Amino acid sequence: MCLFCKIISGDIPNKTVLENENFLAFEDINPQAKIHVLIIPKVHIASFNEMTSNIMQEMTPFIQEVALTLGVKSDGYRLITNIGSNGGQEVGHIHFHLLAGEKLGSII
Ligand code: AMP
Repeated sequence: MCLFCKIISGDIPNKTVLENENFLAFEDINPQAKIHVLIIPKVHIASFNEMTSNIMQEMTPFIQEVALTLGVKSDGYRLITNIGSNGGQEVGHIHFHLLAGEKLGSII
């Protein structure tokens, strides 16, 4: 079982921000901004390469709800998903990083 599947099953604890039947948002253990939350589907999907349009369609309003819950929707935030080794992906379960809470530096 992958690291994030163990978080979903409760074998590894997490600081949950928002959860529903299909998705989980929790605090990153090594935050790169004042607010750093990871958003994942509960079904195991290795990366964005394996993502389906159906799950993405359901995940979109969940991510927006996470931003609302965190109180960052109007001030803004950044969403990142790393894909594969060149993309810097370390955990093989798709996740979106939501970074917020401060003015973020430009990366592109
Ligand atoms: P990535 O490099 O895009 O695969 O991101 C993996 C992220 O998972 C990193 O930001 C880590 O800090 C984070 N991470 C690893 N283990 C945990 C954990 N047990 N709880 C919360 N976040 C974690």
